[in-house]
Amino acid sequence: MSEKTILVWFRNDLRIHDNEILLEATKKADKILPVYCFDPFYFKTTTLGLQKTGNIRARFLLESVADLRRNLQKLGGELIVRTGNPADIIPQVAQQYDVSEVYHHREVAFEETGISEEVETALWRMKLNLKHFIGHTLYHKEDLPFPIKDIPDSFATFKKKVERDSDVRPCIETPIHITVPEISEPGNIPMLADLGLTEPIDDNRADFHYHGGETAALQQLNAYISTIDLAPAQKGKHNDGPSRLSAWISLGCLSQRMVYHEAMKHVNGGHPSSSPLILELLWRDYFRFMFKKHGRQFFNPEGFKDEAPELAPNHAGLFCQWKNGQTGVPYIDAVMHKLNATGYISNHNRQIVAAFLVDQLKADWTKGAAWFEEKLIDYSPASNWGNWAFIAGVANDTRDSRYFAGVKQAENLETESDFINTWLPENSSNLVVA
Ligand SMILES: Cc1cc2nc3c(=O)[nH]c(=O)nc-3n(C[C@H](O)[C@H](O)[C@H](O)COP(=O)(O)OP(=O)(O)OC[C@H]3O[C@@H](n4cnc5c(N)ncnc54)[C@H](O)[C@@H]3O)c2cc1C
Repeated sequence: MSEKTILVWFRNDLRIHDNEILLEATKKADKILPVYCFDPFYFKTTTLGLQKTGNIRARFLLESVADLRRNLQKLGGELIVRTGNPADIIPQVAQQYDVSEVYHHREVAFEETGISEEVETALWRMKLNLKHFIGHTLYHKEDLPFPIKDIPDSFATFKKKVERDSDVRPCIETPIHITVPEISEPGNIPMLADLGLTEPIDDNRADFHYHGGETAALQQLNAYISTIDLAPAQKGKHNDGPSRLSAWISLGCLSQRMVYHEAMKHVNGGHPSSSPLILELLWRDYFRFMFKKHGRQFFNPEGFKDEAPELAPNHAGLFCQWKNGQTGVPYIDAVMHKLNATGYISNHNRQIVAAFLVDQLKADWTKGAAWFEEKLIDYSPASNWGNWAFIAGVANDTRDSRYFAGVKQAENLETESDFINTWLPENSSNLVVA
């Protein structure tokens, strides 16, 4: 009888821990074929003249794929790396290695699902099945107390019902050994220049250094968990610093379930969301499920409303000044300089600069979201476009307005703070905001 080989198509699940497609493939097949595809779609310049992936996130991705390859090799496996359209590459590799099925984790945003639909169609022509798994959320879709179409639009209701009626599944075990076919050309991980990008210049003012991959992700999780006080948050306030886990979670170097179960060890019998870390992870789930429910509506300027927010006559110029940190409002400019130089700003600062773009400058929020898409090291479609739509006031439920609670008028923020001194260049130009 011929051997069965399953192709494991890695996308935003760049890890060997808690990875259902990897474990299932090792159980169901004699051999598995792990594949990662650098898709040129993600490295193009958009119609807005912005890059889909800036060089800071791209470098983090390259490091993450390299780490995945090393971790698979430690298990006796290998990672095939190719550059090209997955709808061409996956069927080619499947044919070359005579695979009988392809596994992947299902995505939620329309560009990502569009790519897997193309792959599915191409495989279908070869009479091969693309099997979809669910692996990007804390709560498994099938454990929710409601079907996707009935998920509450209010975060508060979603949280209450999910916490009352659902449990987070345990992590999936990591395979102890992987058998792969003989691979003659595993393929090189591209350089940034191959993707049309320049090497980022590390800014020595950065207060945190990111390195891509599961290995660094688990180190950061351990470091964070061991140093923070996970006691109940006071009136919903974070009682500890940000975990800095988002970049790894977004690429799937770290599973949210892993973070949850580690955090739960410190909750001391309390409610899961008494841990600020778990509460934040619930927001992430909420946006992913909202994208599953509502599709591409979150990407439209008008969102769920009849009209998009009003724009200033010179909104295009104001957007340029905002993105370059040249609004003349010191706090905003400092935050934007930090974002552009490091790829990371805190949730609070994301809210402030986003609200400033929408409410004060009256510029196009979708351009702001696209700028974040280029610059953020942790960009994730549902988290980014979902948060932006809320701040722009065009989301499905604007009653959950926690966003505005901490957002003072940017002009009133302390102009002499260390933060501004650190991140505001002396030659920052002045703009009078009407
Ligand atoms: C305009 C705007 C755009 C954003 N774009 C993104 C994005 O592209 N990718 C992204 O991961 N997060 C995004 N966020 C959410 C949030 O700002 C970041 O997840 C957080 O700042 C990351 O830092 P941390 O890992 O230290 O978070 P922590 O505060 O330690 O939170 C733990 C984890 O919970 C999740 N999380 C926290 N806050 C949110 C939130 N508001 N929405 C969804 N998930 C959350 C993240 O996975 C994060 O790693 C955005 C927020 C705003 C206001």
